[in-house]
Amino acid sequence: MKLGQVSRFNILQYLGIGLAVFLTLTGCQTLFKPPTASQIHLKLGNPSQATTDPQNSTNFLIEKPEFVLSYNSTTGTANWVSWQLNPSWLGIVKRQNNFRPDETLPAGWYQVQPNDYRGTGYDRGHLVPSGDRTKNLDQNSTTFLMTNIIPQAPKLNRGIWSDLEQYCRDLLKQGKELYIITGVEGKFKTIAKGKVTVPAWNWKVIVILDKPNQKITENTGIIAVRMPNSNSFKKHWRDYQVSVDEIEKNTGLDFLTNIPKTVQDKLER
Ligand code: MN
Ligand code: MN
Repeated sequence: MKLGQVSRFNILQYLGIGLAVFLTLTGCQTLFKPPTASQIHLKLGNPSQATTDPQNSTNFLIEKPEFVLSYNSTTGTANWVSWQLNPSWLGIVKRQNNFRPDETLPAGWYQVQPNDYRGTGYDRGHLVPSGDRTKNLDQNSTTFLMTNIIPQAPKLNRGIWSDLEQYCRDLLKQGKELYIITGVEGKFKTIAKGKVTVPAWNWKVIVILDKPNQKITENTGIIAVRMPNSNSFKKHWRDYQVSVDEIEKNTGLDFLTNIPKTVQDKLER
């Protein structure tokens, strides 16, 4: 055997081994890839088929590690926000209060400013509550982006709306995992020279799993509420409980589309 032949054989052998190693590594990478924001927060479905196409300016999908939302550049707020809530999102970080415009919006879209709400009589109300993201500074800060904020009647925001948010976090002490979708409905008026719509209603759909990753069945716990965005309201959030079907009818959204239709229909009733 000549020296040249040996070398050629070795080169082919090394290429073969190299290719095998490459394929194994990329294969492992696919297997162990962490789930995307949508895989986590839109586990139950995308209620308006929002997309990341900037042409879709009234139903534009924004994915953050902390939550996923559909943004409406005409109303200056989200249509809805969806998020997972379990103890892994909770820690001891304090409320950052760093309200700020969301600079990730497509070029040319108006970025709602924290001051746009000043003097309007409305609170900068969180969709995903600050208290649901206290694991670290980044996660808490993300809840203060103006794309997660709506003009909310102050007494509602600090009253029974906040009570329901706390009720959700209390459920985690029993080991539960929640999937929450909340959003706006209708138009009461506009503020910020027409750039931000004050919704007439705020609603919420909460799916309650007894433990993380539990399979959803017709017996899975679910709470839906629809409240007027007003400073006068009844005593308890339970006074505003409705069926999921009723929110679907009023908003035109379709919730829980990732759940088999027969189970979905039963849960929504
Ligand atoms: Mn609030
Ligand atoms: Mn549905």
